[in-house]
Amino acid sequence: MKQFNCGDVVPGCSVRFRFESEEKILEAVGQHARKDHGLTEIPPQLIAQVKEKIQPAA
Ligand SMILES: [Zn+2]
Repeated sequence: MKQFNCGDVVPGCSVRFRFESEEKILEAVGQHARKDHGLTEIPPQLIAQVKEKIQPAA
């Protein structure tokens, strides 16, 4: 399992993601960014930041 806290990249956001793979997390983060952060597309540097903060989860 992998996990990611949106607050690590977007200060103040408390949404957490937990999925079996990095790909699934990136997909969910993309949807969340569009829906809750008003991004129409996800910039590559944001994806890079997210990948950096993805942690292994038990
Ligand atoms: Zn967020």
